[in-house]
Amino acid sequence: MRAPKTGECYCGCGKPTKSYFAEEGGHDLKAAAMLHFIKYGTTNMAAILHEEGFGPEGENLTEKAKARGYQRLIDALKGLEWA
Ligand SMILES: [Zn+2]
Repeated sequence: MRAPKTGECYCGCGKPTKSYFAEEGGHDLKAAAMLHFIKYGTTNMAAILHEEGFGPEGENLTEKAKARGYQRLIDALKGLEWA
């Protein structure tokens, strides 16, 4: 799946961009939060994962990604572990 680059930020703010989101940052996160709220009624990722059947009492998200052959994605996301 690939989105076309239109020159306008995908969050809906209307700002111009050479990529998918406005250059000052945060517009991708704002878009994700709005999409999650529209689809699930919350921006709480734990609640969304629970709704989708993932989490400590459900399916293991990382193991599912591995089973689907998404190891490169898992490795790339390791850099996002802040704590
Ligand atoms: Zn934007």
